[in-house]
Amino acid sequence: MADPELTRALGLVREVTDFPEPGVLFQDLSPLLADARGFRAVVDALAGAVPAGVDTVLALEARGFLFGAALAATRGFGVVPIRKPGKLPAVADRVTYDLEYGSATFELPVGALGAGNRVVVVDDVLATGGTLAAAAGLAARAGAEVTAALVVVEITALGGRARVPLPVHAVHGV
Ligand code: AMP
Repeated sequence: MADPELTRALGLVREVTDFPEPGVLFQDLSPLLADARGFRAVVDALAGAVPAGVDTVLALEARGFLFGAALAATRGFGVVPIRKPGKLPAVADRVTYDLEYGSATFELPVGALGAGNRVVVVDDVLATGGTLAAAAGLAARAGAEVTAALVVVEITALGGRARVPLPVHAVHGV
């Protein structure tokens, strides 16, 4: 049976048409984040989906930081922020990938991740899957064992999970 707290929380997601570009139905999680009960319910749902043995959350800039860091603190994991270009003083590796709207580059900080880490990748929304696939690739190249990707919202019609070479858990599908 669906958790009424979680159902309530997911009802706070606001869909915005044609943002940031015509044709995109943007999933705005700001109202959910601003709601204490809602945020807690979603973080708990993410925390319940983490595979055994994980020690590190790979959190994706920018909205993945919010959910990833909260999940890491809840479960007692470390958190590694995957950054957009120009933010890190020392870059271990980078990847450029296609987005639903445009392209982007991600960078991995030096010394944050390596063999022996067992990680989950966390972001807010799964659209085409390029973002999660790129982040997972960076972590794998660093030698980490990447176990799963966790997102709050999956836009199922885009079929993005097929591009992600990992088990994907979405709290909510739209
Ligand atoms: P993708 O690589 O296409 O799966 O895009 C996922 C990334 O872009 C996530 O970091 C999301 O924050 C953002 N994103 C892409 N499409 C949307 C959307 N329709 N609503 C909200 N965020 C989106």
